[in-house]
Amino acid sequence: MLRFASLASGSKGNCLVAEAAKTRVLIDCGLKLRDTEQRLARLGLLPGDIAAILVTHEHGDHAGGAFDFAAAHCASLYLTYGTLSALRAEGKVVEGVKTTLVNSKERFPVGDLEVHPFTVPHDAREPVQFVISDGASKLGVLTDIGASTAHVEATLSGLDALVLECNYDADMLWGGAYPQWLKQRIAGPFGHLDNLQSERLLGALDRSRLKHVIAAHLSQQNNRPGLARAALARAMRCEESWISLATQEDGFGWRGL
Ligand SMILES: [Zn+2]
Ligand SMILES: [Zn+2]
Repeated sequence: MLRFASLASGSKGNCLVAEAAKTRVLIDCGLKLRDTEQRLARLGLLPGDIAAILVTHEHGDHAGGAFDFAAAHCASLYLTYGTLSALRAEGKVVEGVKTTLVNSKERFPVGDLEVHPFTVPHDAREPVQFVISDGASKLGVLTDIGASTAHVEATLSGLDALVLECNYDADMLWGGAYPQWLKQRIAGPFGHLDNLQSERLLGALDRSRLKHVIAAHLSQQNNRPGLARAALARAMRCEESWISLATQEDGFGWRGL
């Protein structure tokens, strides 16, 4: 069985755990070491249970704790050359941590899991996102993408579970207090998805196998949970209560496939 949970989701830190048989991996580790350890314990896991961290891109809310965790608990890191280069330039690389470069066009195994990376438009050096499979079921995670692409929609079609960014509500962002340059960055083609873009992206997928849809990476300033859930529920033609929510403080609990 493939199962997954989130430790945290949002601009203050992202971390998701996926497990099949004896293999557990994190997707991103944007929390401080102690926070990651405490939140794993909430899910019944020990830090030493984590074999690897798949890092999507170098932004601090995704990669900020990755090297520290890997160094402390002998996990290996999987990341693109661009992400590693950017982290090295920022002085975030801890020597001695085992790193494996991800080719964004090639799937690779990590223990009992198969990982399918795919490219996304986002303002980082070489960002990717991931689909994870145990051979029977597929989980897709998509956050930090400025606009959907045909490649993304083909990759995310036919999934069993999807964790999907609903970063902001456009009216709240443009009417809010952020400086103009930041509003433009967030709403730009290499920024983040708003609720409507996420609704359209989900509506364009083959959704026939989807058992879990989880709204993620919500802005605490520029979005409301009810707006994100309503948008994804429209795309799924389901009750809003069926759409789950990943929160900054609690992520979400275990889901099984
Ligand atoms: Zn992010
Ligand atoms: Zn980012």
